[in-house]
Amino acid sequence: MSTTAPGSLFLAEDPRALVAWGTTDYYIGRAHLVPRGRAAGLCSMPVDEHWRHRPPGHRPCPECAITWVNELFPLPSSAARLDQSA
Ligand SMILES: [Zn+2]
Repeated sequence: MSTTAPGSLFLAEDPRALVAWGTTDYYIGRAHLVPRGRAAGLCSMPVDEHWRHRPPGHRPCPECAITWVNELFPLPSSAARLDQSA
């Protein structure tokens, strides 16, 4: 069952199933988050190799990470502070 709006990156319960990791010789040492079926990371960097898990020795691409967090935590229609009593 989908928990997000149509057209969202996430259509499954576990969003990790929708992305792989990608690397390129152009940006050595960075691992990009690549939506399944695409040839470029969330940052738009084309990747040469795809990996199921983040490859050892590679740090996550900051631009992919920011985009991923924004997808996981979309802006709500209204924000409620946790430190306010109900
Ligand atoms: Zn990236």
